[in-house]
Amino acid sequence: MNRSSLIFLTAFLMAACGPKQLEPDATFRCSNCERWNLPQEPFRIYGNTWYVGTAGLASILIETGSGLILVDGALPQSAALIETNIRSAGFDPLQITAIFVSHPHYDHAGGVAALQRFTGATVYTSAEGAKALRSGKLQSDDPQYGYGPENTSFAAIKNVVVLADRESVTIDGVDVMAVYTPGHTPGSVSWSWESCALGTCYDVVYADSLTAVSAQGYHFSAGPAANQIIESAGAISELNCDILLSPHPFFFGMQDKLEKRDEGNPFVNNVACMIYAESALDWLQQRLDSE
Ligand SMILES: [Zn+2]
Repeated sequence: MNRSSLIFLTAFLMAACGPKQLEPDATFRCSNCERWNLPQEPFRIYGNTWYVGTAGLASILIETGSGLILVDGALPQSAALIETNIRSAGFDPLQITAIFVSHPHYDHAGGVAALQRFTGATVYTSAEGAKALRSGKLQSDDPQYGYGPENTSFAAIKNVVVLADRESVTIDGVDVMAVYTPGHTPGSVSWSWESCALGTCYDVVYADSLTAVSAQGYHFSAGPAANQIIESAGAISELNCDILLSPHPFFFGMQDKLEKRDEGNPFVNNVACMIYAESALDWLQQRLDSE
């Protein structure tokens, strides 16, 4: 084990006795939760943009020069891991002033209430997403609504600011743009910002989930969700996009890319958003065929 891994492991073990405000009211249980919540060493993706999430759920940190921005908060039980990762990357989590949320499901919004309580950050999302974040419950038109509140609810979030489609907000000099990408949920929103290093700037896209996943009995073909996914895939494929990120790191091939870090920066790929969009359309087609 090298020195940085040892420091990371020590910091990870210390997370168990981390700040009280980050302890979840209850550990969320789901079939993938334990696997998703395995620790992941934080790393710089490019320029101002860092990965501070768990092995299976993304949380992205953006440095602004005077403060910090976070994108997504994973599971309730991920909040302490995210805080530890931010510290071991060399930042003070109390400097977070804004948290952007992709979609209101327990595995991306579940840790946000605790992270907000700890940092005092303002939370930003879409109009439909805000309804679910403020209540901690899925909207009845969410494809996963049928799983029931006992399997889908998360801690309600206060101080949620709505951004319109294509609206940008400037946080300490960093512009973050909302791109509405409904389908996986009615409130799904992707986020885009610029990341620069040594005079080279790239457009980063945190593309929300476009997967057609639902509770039993829901039909994508029967409602607006299938068309929403088609339109959202189109929106993502047309964005200026040099670096693709997404709520599940599997979707941007994080582990494979980490293994190729000595071959330049594998996260920079200006066709990744297009491939992501095409894959979403393929999955949707399979789902519609099975309906
Ligand atoms: Zn989801």
